[in-house]
Amino acid sequence: MNTAYVALGANIGEPAATVLAAFTALAVLPESRVLRTSSLYRTAPVGLRNQPDFINAAAALETTLGAEALLDALLDLEVRFGRHRRDRNGPRTLDLDLLLYNDSKIDQPRLTLPHPRLHLRAFVLRPLAEIAPDLTIPGRGSVAAWLPAVASQGVVRL
Ligand code: ADP
Ligand code: MG
Repeated sequence: MNTAYVALGANIGEPAATVLAAFTALAVLPESRVLRTSSLYRTAPVGLRNQPDFINAAAALETTLGAEALLDALLDLEVRFGRHRRDRNGPRTLDLDLLLYNDSKIDQPRLTLPHPRLHLRAFVLRPLAEIAPDLTIPGRGSVAAWLPAVASQGVVRL
């Protein structure tokens, strides 16, 4: 059995409803079980600023899917939720990122683990710290230790 952490983000349409529906979709992925889900967080956009706020959250899964198969399942879900290809950091119906898969380290364009920007973003770290306060990011130290560095980023727990 493997443990994986997933980041969810949405900022088009009804983003809070989308993230809640995505929790449900994760719960019915094959060979997988949702262990924990975070609160929803409201986040001002990073990068392209002239777009709606994001709703962000995180989920912990237990799965027998491999990391690649889990990523494929997440990307399929994005498509099902109507995501179109778009600008990097631009608006999206639903973004699902695989943050961590056990303590795997993978460095490929299609799948990088741990997620390369996870430790820099309050909208990822805050929900992750809520559901897994003692988690270690392989090669980078604890989630808790990175939180102060992102404290100035505007993320509001709903
Ligand atoms: P971002 O999430 O960085 O804004 P995208 O969601 O458009 O960008 O991701 C584009 C590609 O990133 C995906 O097609 C996927 O193959 C790749 N990718 C690499 N590592 C990961 C990961 N850990 N989680 C999700 N996607 C990843
Ligand atoms: Mg993504």
